Amino acid sequence: MTAALGALLGLIIGSFLAVLTGRWPAGQAITGRSRCDACGVQLRALELVPVLSFLVLRGRCRHCGAAIDRRHPAIELAGAAVGAVLLWRYPLLPGLAAAIAGWWLLALIVLDAEHQWLPDALTLPLIPAGLALGEVIGFAPLADRALAALLGFGTLAALRAGYRWRTGREGMGGGDPKLMAGIGALLGWIPLPFILTGAALLGLGLAGLDRARGRAITATTALPLGALLAGMALILLMLGPDWGERLR
Ligand SMILES: [Zn+2]
Repeated sequence: MTAALGALLGLIIGSFLAVLTGRWPAGQAITGRSRCDACGVQLRALELVPVLSFLVLRGRCRHCGAAIDRRHPAIELAGAAVGAVLLWRYPLLPGLAAAIAGWWLLALIVLDAEHQWLPDALTLPLIPAGLALGEVIGFAPLADRALAALLGFGTLAALRAGYRWRTGREGMGGGDPKLMAGIGALLGWIPLPFILTGAALLGLGLAGLDRARGRAITATTALPLGALLAGMALILLMLGPDWGERLR
């Protein structure tokens, strides 16, 4: 029952996140009625129902017939999955706190994957919000998570500086240490090495996939490290505070 509630909430929030992550990097106003990207016709309320409208309209604008960007239903479904799993996994209140954190991470995943961009306006508030939400979710005591925010920031900032010193290039965005601080504030310091290793392995896997598809890997190939870190944090959030036993 709570899983259905989580899915429903997630569809609505996913729909908002799809608009936010689409308009924000383009410098467009986040509020305002939704329009067709191709012809500009204003969408009616019935055309804004998450996922369903896309299916009913068969993915095309009713006015001009242009294909509707699939990122919309994809982000809506991802939002629904995050809400359903987290409200199913936890009791109601911790579940809602975990879902808020989960949707927050989802927004960062989309922005970093599509634009290699982790806005300060999302990463910095995640630090105090993570400290507060983490209190309800229950991965670790407040003191552990405050320490983890410092450790997370310090580790990534040191890796970033080390890479720059060794190669003379910027290998990591400035947003990654701030994101890692937020993840630490949310989950505590014990999961941090696991999240970093997991993100690195996922990154190697993605690079391998690119190679298998015949794309050349160069030293400057940008991997969305922030999206991978946020993705790992989301996975841990879904496993729950006893993630260690679950993975054993
Ligand atoms: Zn149109």
